Amino acid sequence: MRVIFHGVRGSIPASGIEFSRYGGHTTCTEIMTDTAQIILDAGSGFQNVTLANDRPIVILVSHFHHDHIQGLGFNPRLFSKQSEIFICSALCSKDSTQSYIQQYYNGTYFPIDLLSEISKLEIVSFNELKSIFARDLTIESYNLSHPGGSAAYSITTSTAKLCCLLDNEYREDQFQSLSTFIDEANLTIWDGMFTADELQQYRGWGHSSMEQGEAFLERSNCKRLAITHHAPYRTDIQLDAMQQSFKDTAIFIAREKQVEIYD
Ligand SMILES: [Zn+2]
Ligand SMILES: [Zn+2]
Repeated sequence: MRVIFHGVRGSIPASGIEFSRYGGHTTCTEIMTDTAQIILDAGSGFQNVTLANDRPIVILVSHFHHDHIQGLGFNPRLFSKQSEIFICSALCSKDSTQSYIQQYYNGTYFPIDLLSEISKLEIVSFNELKSIFARDLTIESYNLSHPGGSAAYSITTSTAKLCCLLDNEYREDQFQSLSTFIDEANLTIWDGMFTADELQQYRGWGHSSMEQGEAFLERSNCKRLAITHHAPYRTDIQLDAMQQSFKDTAIFIAREKQVEIYD
């Protein structure tokens, strides 16, 4: 399993020299397995994904806040690809997924009607998706705490397991069920939008802190934890300082273009 972080920001992209090392694109993580290319969320980082030619592509959407879908129409390869491309969200039905994307990319907020233009984009329900890939992949979901809801995903191959917990306002009463969900994961992706201090002012906004990620890693049996969905105002220097403050070397602040391999 190869993991590439194509976008590590939350809310809106960040531009400027002070954000250049960690990167400014909104959230998008690519997971390449032997049998599928899975894209977790299509924030603006999605424009830089090299879409696979030799295996099906799955775009898994956690929820439809704009930082998770705003890049979908901006990957030029999407318009020329012959591979099958599935779009799916465990958050809602197939019809709702279709309707949310249609509303966003319909000629009003975007120049063309994306779903009509690209006929190979196939929207499927989460159960359909699971059965399509059942032979090679186990894909599971978990309901996170976020305004409007958000779906966590776990993807397990014969060699590795990855979990993505975006977007989530962590609550202590999630610990047991989340620990079960991420059990023995090689990598867990954590919503680190806020610092512990900031979180006091932003209760109810649907995000966690980086410090909560570190505490969660300590108590769970996840092997590695990536902090992502960085606030758009969080500078490289601040992220470096946070990285240095972590005592556990299994936690890292994700950077755009970072590649992780789990075999
Ligand atoms: Zn978000
Ligand atoms: Zn959100």
